[in-house]
Parts: sequence; C-alpha cells; structure tokens
Amino acid sequence: MAKVLIIGAGGVGRVVAHKVSSVPEVFTEILLASRTLSKCEAIAKAVGSDRVNTAQVNADDRHQLIALLKSFRPDIVIHVALPYQDLTIMEACLETGVHYLDTANYEPPDVPKFEYRWQWAYHDQFRQAGLTAILGCGFDPGVSGVFTAYAAKHHFDEIHCLDIVDCNAGDHGKPFATNFNPEINIREVTQKGKYWENGKWIETEPHQIHQPLTYPNIGPRESYLIYHEELESLVKHFPTLKRARFWMTFGQEYLTHLRVIQNIGMASVKPILYEGREIVPIQFLKAVLPDPASLGEHYAGETSIGCRIRGIRNGKEKTYYIYNNCRHQDAFKETGAQAVSYTTGVPAMIGAMLCVTGKWKAPGVYNTEEFDPDPFMELLPLHGLPWHELHDVDLEL
Ligand code: NDP
Repeated sequence: MAKVLIIGAGGVGRVVAHKVSSVPEVFTEILLASRTLSKCEAIAKAVGSDRVNTAQVNADDRHQLIALLKSFRPDIVIHVALPYQDLTIMEACLETGVHYLDTANYEPPDVPKFEYRWQWAYHDQFRQAGLTAILGCGFDPGVSGVFTAYAAKHHFDEIHCLDIVDCNAGDHGKPFATNFNPEINIREVTQKGKYWENGKWIETEPHQIHQPLTYPNIGPRESYLIYHEELESLVKHFPTLKRARFWMTFGQEYLTHLRVIQNIGMASVKPILYEGREIVPIQFLKAVLPDPASLGEHYAGETSIGCRIRGIRNGKEKTYYIYNNCRHQDAFKETGAQAVSYTTGVPAMIGAMLCVTGKWKAPGVYNTEEFDPDPFMELLPLHGLPWHELHDVDLEL
C-alpha cells in the first residue's frame, strides 16, 4: 500500500526498520538511507527481510535528498537522523510531494536551542501542497502528546496541571554513555530548566529543581525538572493548562560526568582550532563516547515514561497517571536496540502508519496531540508498548 523512506541508521532507525518490516500489509516497500551506507546495510541484514533496501544520502544536502525522493517516490519519509536535518528534509518533501514525520524538533547546529517555530512556519506550504507533516512522533515528544490528548478527550472536562515524567532505570554497565545521540542529548540536558506556570515560562538553572518520584515497578528515583520540546506545543494546544513541567531521572554518576564535561568545555558547540583544524568540542566528544546503538546488548532494567495530570471532571478535582514501562532486554531481543531507541521507533512507525492509512492525514504541520489519539492508543500495545492508567492517585506533584 505505501512506500516508506527511513532516513537515519542509528538506534532509532534500527527500530523503525524492524517495525515497518513487521507490517507488510501497510508498508510494501522500504528504503533505509543514511550518511553511512554500511550502517544501513547492517540494519537491513539484521531485519532479515529482503524488503529493506538501502541507500547513501547526506540529508544536509537538499539536492541529494530531492534526487533520492524522486528516484524512490515514497509516500512518507520517517526522519530519524538528527534534528539539524529537519528543515532540509521538510523542504525536499514539499518539493517532491511526500508526507513527513520526525521525532525531534529542529535546532540550528550552532545554537543549542530547540523551538517549534522554525517547523510550524511550514504549515501553510504543507497545507497548500495537500501534505501532512507530523512533528515529534517518538515517545517524548510523541506519545506524551497522545497520552495528554487521550486524557483530555476521555477523562477530563479541563486539564490544569501536566507533569511528564521520564525515568530510565536501566543500567548499561558503562561509567558514562548517553541513550541517544550524545551531541543532541548533552545539548538537551545541559540547557536551563523551564516550565509553564500561570500563562508564562519560568526559567531555572540547569537541574536546580529536583525531587524523588516513584515510578511503577521501579520505585523512587531522583527526578530533575528540565525543559523539553513538547511543553511548547502542549501549552499552545491545551490552553486550560495552568502548569506544565517535564521531569527526567539522572543518576549521580551521570550528573557528575556531565558537570565535568561542561566545566572543561567539552559540551561547547563553538568551533575551536586544534592542530590547525576547526573542531566542535561536543562533536569530538561524541566520537569518543560509546555509540548509543551499541549499549543494547548489556542493558538491563526498564524505562517508565508517562503523564501525571490534574484537572476537573464533572465539577470535581481528578488526578490521572498514564504510563508505559519498557524493558531494555525485551527491546534488544526483538530489535537489537535498547528501550530508549525502541520507545522512540515504535511511535514513529505508528504515526507513519496512521498517516498513510488516512487516519492521521491532514494537510499542514501538526504535533501529535492535535490528532485523534484513539487509533494511536489502540496500536501502541499491539506493536510492543502497552500502556496503563491509574485514576485518582497521589501524583506526588
Ligand atoms: P544516532 O546518532 O544513533 O543516529 C542518527 C543517525 O542519523 C546516524 O545513522 C547518522 O549517520 C545519521 N545522520 C546524521 N547526520 C546525517 C546526515 N546529514 N545525513 C544522513 N544521515 C545522517 O541517533 P538516534 O538513533 O539515537 O536518534 C535519532 C533521532 O531520534 C534524533 O533526532 C533524536 O533526537 C531522536 N530521539 C527522539 C526521542 C523521542 O522520544 N522523541 C528519543 C530519542 C531520540 P552516521 O552513522 O553516519 O553518523
């Protein structure tokens, strides 16, 4: 029925390739393209299906992208390379008449800052072209928006407080490693904290606000308030929200390494001269850190990501907690990738499936919470991510 082009052959690309291959009735032809062809070939071999073809592409180069899109003529691009490529891929999709989906919002390479405005600016062009662009369709962002939309649709008359809680209680056995692209990850977690309260953004120092939160099947873990991209779209699309925050767990060992990395200048995005050559410290750091795609084999434990929501139902205050837990070992057994890649790749496949089958097809540029959450929620457990609800519980927040 649909031809899909996956761009990016990292941990998430590996999961997406496995997952689209598992739905042959929807995705009839699959092309996996990335900067390094050998990584695409290794994934195609691991998937074991002769339906995954491979290609080399530099997605920073619009002309290369357009040539690839014109020759393969996909119905949709699932972009799981890096956020730096969001705009070039969106433009190439517009030029060739292809739907678009990604899992992380655009950031300029030289400014460690993410905002939706660059991508939202393409709304009219996608609408006029009759094309759908689905932004941030991983777990968080992605499922976090779907969970919020589902809660607002089925369990509340008004939602007032939203706390997205993200715990990785897994252990990969390395002193320091990041669970997805180190450059993007370190840029994200070293930013100032930011949350929404009473109609305005409140900024904090990095990791200034923290408290233990109890995660299902895991127990209490110190959780840190950080800024995360879906807060921007969720407060826009749910204007009844009086407060919206994002919490992520970090171990002491991770935070100590992070502090040292920052103190010695290795988290910097500013180019420096080294032996006559310009290098960007954080890119050099990425080259020496463990490849996140290699962590899966020894990863034990699980992730737990969910939304804790407070609001009003039938005139009474109500609390609600919806979450998914995902075991690293199970993710690795099925796809050869750890749970952080798995929980990102599965929603990306589901979003693409809903787009090409017409359920999430709407000309324009949209975040996940703007679509009907029900078909997405039905598909999540069928493709490896069961979810659970708790009503009227102590949210701790
Ligand atoms: P990786 O770094 O493991 O993989 C990225 C892949 O993209 C690599 O194969 C890389 O190629 C390729 N790539 C990078 N630049 C280009 C380019 N210019 N042209 C073509 N290919 C390129 O990252 P992950 O798989 O861990 O993450 C993928 C995306 O998912 C990221 O954007 C990340 O932010 C996002 N993400 C979203 C989450 C969510 O819940 N929403 C959670 C986790 C991640 P090469 O091998 O040559 O370097």
